[in-house]
Amino acid sequence: MLPESISFSIDPDETYLVAGAGGFIGGHLVADLRERGVKRIRAVDIKPRNQWFQRFSDVENRVMNLQELEACRAAVNGCDVVYNLAADMGGMGFIENNKALCMLSVLINTHLLTAARETGASRFFYASSACVYAAGKQGSEDNPGLVEADAYPAEPEDGYGWEKLFSERMCRHFREDFGVETRVARFHNVYGPHGSWEGGREKAPAAICRKVAQARLSGNHEIEIWGDGKQTRSFMYIDDCINGIHRFTGSRHLMEPLNLGSSEMVSIDQLVDIVEEIAGVRLRRRYNVDAPKGVRGRSSDNTRILETFGWEPSISLRDGLERTYAWIFNQMSARTAEDRGVLRMFIAPKASSSGEGEHRAASAETADAGLSLPS
Ligand code: NAD
Repeated sequence: MLPESISFSIDPDETYLVAGAGGFIGGHLVADLRERGVKRIRAVDIKPRNQWFQRFSDVENRVMNLQELEACRAAVNGCDVVYNLAADMGGMGFIENNKALCMLSVLINTHLLTAARETGASRFFYASSACVYAAGKQGSEDNPGLVEADAYPAEPEDGYGWEKLFSERMCRHFREDFGVETRVARFHNVYGPHGSWEGGREKAPAAICRKVAQARLSGNHEIEIWGDGKQTRSFMYIDDCINGIHRFTGSRHLMEPLNLGSSEMVSIDQLVDIVEEIAGVRLRRRYNVDAPKGVRGRSSDNTRILETFGWEPSISLRDGLERTYAWIFNQMSARTAEDRGVLRMFIAPKASSSGEGEHRAASAETADAGLSLPS
């Protein structure tokens, strides 16, 4: 059988709900749907609007707590396609210390599914995670890549991973018993601009970019690394993630959860090497082996996604990190300039007329020639 059509179709006349639109992936999804000509997008998040990473004035932006059934009914009402990207989550530091909060996200998916069933939404996308995979399969840094079957017998990440595995099953049974057309992707570490890079919810790529940028800006050429630096992961750039979400959601035949991740596996030390090279610095490394570090080795086996779509995430880590580092560096240097009280002199006002994105943090433009940025 040929792989599913390489092109995926977004019907611009349908109405789309993006739950978690104030977050990293949800914000990029809204931006992408707009670019594809979708006219009716409902963007929902629990955060106050001024904390959304991306916000667009030509979109219906709503602040709601989607753990509540009535809020989910109001959010889903009139929508054809539902993307559930809302969850209380963060990097290892957050999920290891907030297991109950992570598990409460089960209410979001349960109530969104219930509402989608009631209104007869035509598609329902759920963002699952590589954290569903059994810990026993991830004990070595030479992990050859997790295959979908490695989720069972169940031994997922405590808290966050259990919630994801349960919600995957809920999607399956709503499809089998109630006919809700659910599609589930298991994301492996997604990174890129317009996401968390400080405050405790950031993940490794953003944290490393911030620490390297900080070292550069401060002149203190030392970096703390969580773990011994030998643990391995793969990282998927946000554009590949959005591309994959469309393929999964538009698929006619895909029923089971599949990996959506990069198969380019690196150690955390190699991740730091790349960011240092981009930044043009070399830092002394201090390893904090007591910090949260997660499983020893994890990557995505892409056999199934390739069979299904003839496609897999392919943006190189080097390319994606260049864009991510540049964005985080600019956030930090703009803030530094702001602290110095000179921001107004250096940064041109960002256009925010109808149709233009309004970004939460300061503009990425700086005139400080001393802070040469990767393009
Ligand atoms: P994010 O934290 O940036 O975005 C999640 C958004 O959900 C946040 O803006 C948050 O305010 C919102 N939210 C939380 N509780 C809510 C509620 N009760 N009602 C409404 N909104 C609520 O995270 P992200 O990186 O964009 O992740 C999106 C989805 O992808 C999540 O389900 C996450 O578990 C999954 N995922 C992400 C990654 C990754 O590497 N980023 C990896 C695996 C899975």
